[in-house]
Amino acid sequence: MPFTLIKLPYALDALQPALSKETLEFHYGKHHKTYVETANKLIAGTEFEQASLEDTVKKASGKLFNNAAQIWNHDFYWNSLTPDAIAPGDKISSALSQSFGSVDAFKTKFEETAVGNFGSGWTWLVQKPDGSLAIVNTQGAATPLTTDAKPLLTCDVWEHAYYIDYRNARPKYLERYWSIANWAFAESRLG
Ligand code: MN
Repeated sequence: MPFTLIKLPYALDALQPALSKETLEFHYGKHHKTYVETANKLIAGTEFEQASLEDTVKKASGKLFNNAAQIWNHDFYWNSLTPDAIAPGDKISSALSQSFGSVDAFKTKFEETAVGNFGSGWTWLVQKPDGSLAIVNTQGAATPLTTDAKPLLTCDVWEHAYYIDYRNARPKYLERYWSIANWAFAESRLG
C-alpha cells in the first residue's frame, strides 16, 4: 500500500505567528510531500510494497530508510504542534520535573540541545523504558522509532523548518516553539 501524506490537523495558516503559512506550504506541501512521493517510488516492486510505514522505518536502510523515516518524523512533528497550545498538564509536568528539575529547566535544556544539534536533524522528548524522560538529538532522518525510547514530542531543526520565518536564527524558532507545542499530545503518549 502506498504511503500517504497525512492531512494536517489544522489549517496551513493556523500556527501563525510562530510559523507562517508560507513555511507550512513549503515544509508540509513540498518537503514532506516529496518524502512520501520518493518513498512510494522506492518501494515499488520490493518487499516493502505491503509493509506499514513503521515496519518500513524499522527494517529499511539507505535511501528508503531516509524517506520513510522522514514521513514518520514529519507526521509526528505536525502532531507535536497545535494552534491551541495549553500549558503542560499535571501528569507530564510532574514527569518533566522528576527528570529535569522543573518544566522551565526542561525547556532550557531542550532549547540548548536543539540549538546544538549540528546540521540537519531532530530534537525529541522521549520516555525511556525505565519511565524517565530524556532529550535526544537525531541526525538527518534518524528517529527514536528504531530505539527502545518512546517519542513524546519533537522539534524539526532542519533549516527548511524555520528558514523562511527566522532565517538562520534557530534559537528564535526554538523560543517560539513553546507557543505551539502540543503538550496534550505529549501527555497522551506518556506511559
Ligand atoms: Mn522537515
